[in-house]
Amino acid sequence: MTNVHENILGLIGNTPMVKLNTVTQNIPGTVYAKLESYNPGHSTKDRIAIHIIEAAEEKGLLKPGSTVVETTSGNTGFSIAMVCIIKGYKCILAVSDKTKPEKIAYLKALGATVYICPANVPANDPKSYYEVAKRIAAETPGSIYINQYFNELNIDAHYRTTGPEIWEQTGGKITHLIACTGTGGTLSGSAKFLKEKNPDIKVIGVDADGSILKTFHETGQVNKDDVHPYQIEGMGKNLIPSALLFDQVDEFVRVNDEMSAYRTREIALKEAIMGGYTTGAVIQGLLQYANSHEIKKDDVVVAIFPDHGSRYITKVYSDKWMAEQGFINNCVHNYDEVFKT
Ligand code: PMP
Repeated sequence: MTNVHENILGLIGNTPMVKLNTVTQNIPGTVYAKLESYNPGHSTKDRIAIHIIEAAEEKGLLKPGSTVVETTSGNTGFSIAMVCIIKGYKCILAVSDKTKPEKIAYLKALGATVYICPANVPANDPKSYYEVAKRIAAETPGSIYINQYFNELNIDAHYRTTGPEIWEQTGGKITHLIACTGTGGTLSGSAKFLKEKNPDIKVIGVDADGSILKTFHETGQVNKDDVHPYQIEGMGKNLIPSALLFDQVDEFVRVNDEMSAYRTREIALKEAIMGGYTTGAVIQGLLQYANSHEIKKDDVVVAIFPDHGSRYITKVYSDKWMAEQGFINNCVHNYDEVFKT
């Protein structure tokens, strides 16, 4: 028997890469998208959920019926809920109120208990999803707190899987790695592995307009003026995660809600790859990077596409939502018109 698995968790990792043929055609090198939506939980977060939970099992911290607690904007929650079902744990998630109702329904469908917390309060506010999750974990006997922003196993999961996959898939030819940073785990772990193989590989982080990560990378300082609400879910932060290894990143670019939204829709329309909002963000980031850096004909760029667009049907793929944001070219399908400016 081939490609037959004991359970759904056997499908985690080994995600495919696809060459982009239109949206990045002005970049002389070859650009590949690593499609993390091919994980069974439809995002890159499956990798950290199984790694962190299995590490806790090895340490004897989890027994059948134990509880796994986490803060999540959605994707990490789906992955933890999935792993908990197979392994027989309870799953409690604290999510931001920016999370769309269909994402919350999805989490509940996977058996999770969901607490909805305000997004625009400081991380140390007792109402923030960090503090809520911490409190639940402290009050629930026999529980573990995944703590993805400050858990080095987040980095380790990508160091052991995503990085080696990219090295192998490109036959060691990768010259540039680019990914959006939320916890920073995906970029940091992959970059650490890849730079050990070839220190010349350029690592580019994509930060959200409204987040502090880019300025922190450049100055070592948190600039509170950087912080404002934004729409892209899953990337950018108002705190400095220890899962983001800033010294592995050569440069950050900052992208805004509007261009990332157009780009997400453009990738669906022109490449037939329906990604989440950060899929548009990472390509927008790459195009901005390519405006000020030389990418050569033989260069091989890998962009991580973190999740699937089906989770964003009422958001970035909705003309109504686009119009509500004031994104002027909201329903156009003539992208040449949009990107002329
Ligand atoms: N995109 C999406 C949609 C995400 O959910 C996340 C995770 N928060 C990221 C990008 C960033 O991944 P990481 O946390 O590994 O930096």
